[in-house]
Amino acid sequence: MSTHDWNTSHFETRAIHAGQDPDPSTGAIITPIFQTSTFVQEAVGEHKGYDYARSDNPTRTALQTALASLEGGAWGLSHASGLAAAQNLFYLVRPGDHVLLSNDAYGGTYRLVAKVIANYGIEFDLVEMSDLVSVRAGIKPNTKLVWVETPTNPYLKIVDIAGVAEIAHDAGAKLVVDNTFASPYLQQPLAHGADFVLHSATKYLGGHSDVIGGALIGNDEETYATLKFMQNAAGAVPAPFDSWLILRGLKTLGVRMDRHSANARAVAEYLERQDLVDQVFYPGLTSHPGHDVAARQMSDFSGMVSFTTRGGFESAKAFVESTTVFQLAESLGGVESLVEHPGQMTHLSVAGTGAAVADNLVRLSVGIEHIDDLLGDIEAALAAVSQKLSVRV
Ligand SMILES: *Cc1c(COP(=O)(O)O)cnc(C)c1O
Repeated sequence: MSTHDWNTSHFETRAIHAGQDPDPSTGAIITPIFQTSTFVQEAVGEHKGYDYARSDNPTRTALQTALASLEGGAWGLSHASGLAAAQNLFYLVRPGDHVLLSNDAYGGTYRLVAKVIANYGIEFDLVEMSDLVSVRAGIKPNTKLVWVETPTNPYLKIVDIAGVAEIAHDAGAKLVVDNTFASPYLQQPLAHGADFVLHSATKYLGGHSDVIGGALIGNDEETYATLKFMQNAAGAVPAPFDSWLILRGLKTLGVRMDRHSANARAVAEYLERQDLVDQVFYPGLTSHPGHDVAARQMSDFSGMVSFTTRGGFESAKAFVESTTVFQLAESLGGVESLVEHPGQMTHLSVAGTGAAVADNLVRLSVGIEHIDDLLGDIEAALAAVSQKLSVRV
């Protein structure tokens, strides 16, 4: 059996093969789920690279190799969740250090910083990351980490990765980009100057709403040694089966993202034409203020669309309760379409803060179903809202 250097192959090929050569002991084409806690040693300290499964597990190794390849990084580390990956990265900062975070960071990331990390003497500030002047103004002499998400949640704002990387590096800080909303198929932050990429693999990487997972990818070998040490020392590692589910998801990432993006664009364009819809937030629309930056750093615009309804909270609530193909649920990035009311669901915990969202905002995670079924569902839901509101008036 001859082997192939997958790093010379294209993204879609690497997604299927990188780190996933056939199992040498059996020829199994799919990486086995190594459901074991320990590995037998030939002699004391003499083993095949695996001694205890918190430290390393072959299914996880395959996933980490694949993720590094897809993000164009030298290394990847998988974690039990996106937030476990975030926690691991925060072990790099020390008491007295300062972290600069987006003012609309993922709620769980904000909670980790504000309610956990801050208790350990680490300072943080929130800034408008889509505005480079604000980013520069937010930097302090002790800033060690700048934390970017793009596109953001739920307004799909776009942050100029290369622009923020330059500001962070001028200040001697590292830049992490949470690439969850884009996926490496559409956006490769390391190529734009980021030091680390973070993923909630729960979303597009897994892609089937059946697993919680997270990952960090980067190039710097010295930091890798620290993060790899912490992955084992703190122990928030993914189970072998969860690693395997994410690996299986990765194989179809490219085709899924193509369809997510095509469907989301059609949905966004449709919504823009509806009387009941006020504003549509989708970076693929030329009306989006971040469209040009997005077009520069993304190859397509992914599957998340938000919009505000005319008629206030009542109309938004009526809409999310009227769809029947789009299921009412939190989370995103799965093959099935989801709808939610951020103000009352994903973003309820930031109500009354600077990160609060409009109460007539609706967020869609556009899946890969047939576009006619998705548009038909939205059309019927909008009609139901109109009827409900006009009856009330
Ligand atoms: C879901 C999510 C996270 C957290 O990931 P978990 O897997 O839920 O821990 C972090 N960032 C973004 C952008 C997310 O959507």
